[in-house]
Formats: sequence, C-alpha cells, structure tokens
Amino acid sequence: MSGNFLNTPIEYLKGVGPQKADLLKKELRIFNYNDLLTFYPFRYVDRTKFYKIKEINADLPYVQLRGKIVSTEFVGTKRTKRFVAMFSDGTGVLELVWFQGAKWVSERIKPHMSNEYVIFGKPTAFNGKFNIAHPEIDPVSEENTLLASALQAVYNSTERLKVRGLDTKGIARLQKLLVAQLKNNIPETLSNSIKERFQLISREEAIRQIHLPKNPEALKYAQFRLKFDELFFIQLKLLRQKGLREKNVRGNVFSKVGDYFNNFFNHHLPFELTGAQKRVIKEIRLDMGSGRQMNRLVQGDVGSGKTLVALMNMLIALDNGFQTCLMAPTEILANQHYETISELLKPLNITVGLLTGSTRTKARRILHEQLQNGNMQILIGTHALLEDVVQFKNIGLVVIDEQHRFGVAQRAKMWAKNIIAPHVLIMSATPIPRTLAMTLYGDLDVSVIDEMPPGRKPIQTVHRFDSNRMRVFGFMKEQIELGRQIYIVYPLIKESEKMDYKDLMDGYESVVRAFPQPTYQVSIVHGQMKADAKEYEMQRFVKRETQIMVATTVIEVGVNVPNASVMVIESAERFGLSQLHQLRGRVGRGADQSYCILMTGNKLGPDSKLRMETMCRTNDGFEIADVDLKLRGPGDMAGTMQSGELDLNIADLSKDAPILHAARNMVIELLSEDPELQNPENANIAYHFSMMGRAMTNWSRIS
Ligand code: ADP
Ligand code: MG
Repeated sequence: MSGNFLNTPIEYLKGVGPQKADLLKKELRIFNYNDLLTFYPFRYVDRTKFYKIKEINADLPYVQLRGKIVSTEFVGTKRTKRFVAMFSDGTGVLELVWFQGAKWVSERIKPHMSNEYVIFGKPTAFNGKFNIAHPEIDPVSEENTLLASALQAVYNSTERLKVRGLDTKGIARLQKLLVAQLKNNIPETLSNSIKERFQLISREEAIRQIHLPKNPEALKYAQFRLKFDELFFIQLKLLRQKGLREKNVRGNVFSKVGDYFNNFFNHHLPFELTGAQKRVIKEIRLDMGSGRQMNRLVQGDVGSGKTLVALMNMLIALDNGFQTCLMAPTEILANQHYETISELLKPLNITVGLLTGSTRTKARRILHEQLQNGNMQILIGTHALLEDVVQFKNIGLVVIDEQHRFGVAQRAKMWAKNIIAPHVLIMSATPIPRTLAMTLYGDLDVSVIDEMPPGRKPIQTVHRFDSNRMRVFGFMKEQIELGRQIYIVYPLIKESEKMDYKDLMDGYESVVRAFPQPTYQVSIVHGQMKADAKEYEMQRFVKRETQIMVATTVIEVGVNVPNASVMVIESAERFGLSQLHQLRGRVGRGADQSYCILMTGNKLGPDSKLRMETMCRTNDGFEIADVDLKLRGPGDMAGTMQSGELDLNIADLSKDAPILHAARNMVIELLSEDPELQNPENANIAYHFSMMGRAMTNWSRIS
C-alpha cells in the first residue's frame, strides 16, 4: 500500500540509525518517508561548471573547483587550532581551512600529486588572499563525475545534524536512497483533467526530479507541479471553509436603506464620494442584505477614505434596527474616530459611545448598560470592546480598522457577541500584495478602494543624509512660515526600547534648540507617556498650537491632521517599507503640497537603499507592498500573528503569483462543479484533502 510506504518511520531507511532518526525528528521534524521526501532543496548548484582559481573574486557566490592538494598543516593551538590545506589547479593556489572537524578532514585529505579533488564552497578574501572555510571536498571519482553532469540539490541543515554527518550532502544521500525506492508509492493528488489542463507531471515524478533533477527543464516541471499542489490545496482549504460558512452560518438580513443613511447621504456628506467609495459601499450593502454573514476585507491605500465607507455601512445597520461598533488598534486612533464620527453624525441624533482602556469605571458601567438596553447605537473603541462584559442588545455589524493588529481569535470573539453572528468588515490600512491577501484572507471577500479623493497632490519624497540636517531644518522653517505643520518620527523597536527612547529625547532636544520658543512650539508624544498626556499633546498639535510633532511610531496609523504637510522620518533605514508608507500617509491629506523626508546615515546596505529608492519613486501602496514582499518574505510581512499559514514549503508568494492565480481559479471552478468533491474523477483530490485536514490542524486558524 502506497500510504504505508510514505508513513514508514524514518529509522527504517538505510543509513538512518536511531540516533540520526532522533536528530532528524528534533531538528527538522522529519518523522517518516513522506516528511523526508517533502523536505525540498532550497537551492541547486550547477555542478557542471568548474571555476579556475585565477577567476575567483570576492563577489562570487559558491564555486566549484577541481585540483590537487599541495600541502597540509595544523596551525595554532587549542582553541585556535585549525587545519589548512593549500589547493592548486595550475592557475593559482587557494587556502582551504577547517576550524571544526579538523582531525576528521585531515585523515581524509592526502597531499599527493596524483590525487585530484573536487571542492565546493564560498571564497572569502582575507589578508589579500582568497580562502574557503569548510569547503566540501571529495576525491574525483566516478560518482563525482556522474554528479558533475547534473544539478545538485542543496538542503538546509543544522549544526547538530552536520556533526552527525547529515550536512547537505548527507541529506542528499538519504534522499537519493529513498527516491531510488519509488515505484508508484506516491499517490497522485490531482485529477487527470487538472493534470492535463496544466501539463503537470505526476506527483511521484515531481518528487523524484525535485531531489535529483535530470536537467534544468525537468526541474522546472517538478517545481511547477509541487508549487501548484501546495497552493491548490491551501486554496481548496480556504474556499471550502468559506463555502461551508456561507452555507451554514446565517446572517442578519439588512433589507433596507433607511432614514439614517439617506439623510446623511443627501444632506450631511462633507464631500462627494469617490467612485471607488460608492462602489465599495454598495458591495458591502449587497453583501449584508444577502442573508449570509458577511466577512469582508476592505483594502485601500492610506488616505483613500475607508472611514467614510465604514460609517455609511454602519448607518445601514442602524437603519435595520441593529447596533454597530468600530474597533481601532490604538487609543489615539479610537479617540480620533470617535471625534470624527460624532461630529459627522451630530445632525442625525445618534448616540455614539467611546470605550477604551482609559474609560473610567463609572462611565464604563453606564456604557455597558446603554449597550445592553439598546440606547447606545454606535460604540467606538479599542480592544476593550472585546471583553466579555461588553454585551450588546443586538449588534449587527462589527468594523475592525487597521486589521493587522487584531488576531483571528479576536475576530471570533466578535462573532460571539450576538446569537446571529454580526457582519464583520475589516479595513486593512496596509495594502498587501494580492498574492498575500489571497493566502492570508483567502476565505474573505475583498473590496478594493482603488481611487484617491480628488485634489490630492502626490507627496514628494526625498532621501537626505544626516549630514544635511541643517538644510532640512531650513526647509522645515520655510514650511512653518507658510503655516504648515510637521511630523518628525523616530523608530521604536522593542528590543532596544531604552536606546530608542534616548534617540528620541536627543532628537527632541536638538529640534527644540533649532526651533526655539516663542517663535516655535514643539510637541512630543511617545509610548511611555500616560494616555491623557499623550492625548493632550496630540490635541495641541491638532489645534495648531504647536507646529512640530516629535513622536515615535505611535502616530503610525490613522491619525489625521490635514494641515500637517511635512513628514520627516529619522533613521528611516530602520523601518520596513510598509511602515514607511504608512507614516508617509499621515501627510498629503489636505490641499497643500506635502513632503516626506527620509533621513538616514551615509552608509546604507543594499536593502535599505532599495527601500529608500522605492519610497522616492512611488506613492502607490500596492507597488510598495510588492517590493516589501520581495525583500522580507511573506511571513515577516504579515507579522507574527498569522505567519503560520504562510509557512509555504515550496511556493514563493513573491514570485509565484501566476501559479497561485491558476490554482485558485481552478479551485473555484472545481468547487462550483463538485462542491462536495464526490465526483469519482476528483477522488484523488478528496482523499488527499481529507488526509491533509488531519495532518495540518494549524490551518484551521484562518477563519
Ligand atoms: P484611510 O483610508 O487612510 O482610513 P480616511 O478615512 O482617514 O483614510 O480619510 C482620509 C481623509 O480623506 C480624511 O480627511 C477624509 O475626511 C477625507 N476624505 C475621505 N473621503 C473623501 C472624499 N470622497 N473626498 C474628499 N475627501 C475625502
Ligand atoms: Mg483609516
């Protein structure tokens, strides 16, 4: 039985004794044959190419050389003891060095003019000479010449595995042994029609070729097949979950658009809605009227006007006799939403409440009461809304702003706030690449606000070195003279909070020196301040009593001061791209020309340079998100919260968008034709899917 083969414990494989088996389990979570076969190489080396020593330069990655050992010796004593071999290929001499395992190596390498070796490693320059530390080294033999005709797989390993001989080569050796045993042992996971449609090779052939590729062409087919598999089943999981939820979870039907909405829309809208806002409001409205419980993500760049979109739909909830709430990630933001929304709704006679960590016990008690007797119609707040004591009479719509700070578990908590789960609308402040959205939020419906309110001038972004600070200060003074306000933001990174705090205070002092009272007033807001002190300083800035706001990233999300037109970001190289874009979004909200100034030291690594260049080149959040994804990888970008879902084994969301789209569309088609996967043609898929459900419980965390 094929299933048995894949489930064979790893210690049954020749060359894997109990000790190695134990290590494989502990270090790589490889328990059985299947785990080993799906432990894919992370890279391949073209072993057909041999470099000459004279061609070596510091920019080369790993190189393969062929030559002889001229001499060997042990150098140093005790802790500095190392084994050095001089290697020559007739074009030059190179030093090979071993610090660890020196004895073992020394017994195997014999300087002898007729012994030829193939070595492989990364050259580094030291004292003007090149050397390779811990190269792979093998005598030229038939096996090596055979290998030399193929792409060789490189595997991740760990120090503890290496000590036991399970370095990349040791793992490759195991893979080779196991792959040689494959004789229709790997069950096909896809249907014939899907395989034909996408010209997929069999799963078994793909596994064989991923470990021992015949040639680059065969490797491509193998990679495509395995990536397709991986993405296909993730999408199947997500879309099937969504299908089940839509079938089983009833939603409150918001059947009408009533007075609240119409009155606001016709008489109190502060401006004409953009086409995109209208479209998205309508998408949400239709969804909430469908009888299904809505779970929708609204994506829109900073400043695209998500708040108003949410508010219009909150009014529809009221029109249908429901309460609604809006949850924000920070107190400052919750306060701001509360003020904006109370102001906008003033003429409508709607009760709006605010609940945050700072709400006093007595006010809280009254609020709880009003929520339960239904007198409170709209509640705005922070995480405090999630607490079990917060009970509504009849909540119909939950809006979650700036979603990336809220976990999935918290979403689920909101579901439980009514007998019929309320509709959930998530507003994402960070544009994320479509591929990432489809994987992270693949079970949500998505609306995109892809248009900015009119009259906005694109923000001009420049990169300046710290050494030019005086000129930057000069520019700031000009802007203040024009009546504008300025943010100066300092990084806040948890690990070195003290240092960050010191940087911030040093910065603040130098700003105060350069912008002295009484001509200038400078505010400061940071994480160690009490909430009311923060609020007080924010308000001074909002009321234009101060011209400069020095802050840590607490202002990152949401804060809205349209008169602020300059954003100076200090140590900009320490921020991720998405965060830089978020910060920049704090300006450019009014009619004035706005500026973003990225300050860095003179020395920048290649990634930082690319980040600065990208920021200066474009204002498009989605484009920036794409670059960010390439630089950071999906797990990092999504934050720690949900990275579990993004532990892809072989697919790469920054490169495999076409495969992802193909797989997702295929799943949509499949589920529309055979939602229960009962068609015999789809038996493979159904079987694999059910097995996967058992194995991968962590996926179910997406909901
Ligand atoms: P975000 O999508 O970043 O949450 P906001 O909802 O805070 O954006 O809106 C940004 C600014 O744009 C606010 O000052 C808001 O009043 C304004 N705004 C929103 N929609 C429009 C519109 N259709 N026309 C003009 N200004 C708008
Ligand atoms: Mg917002």
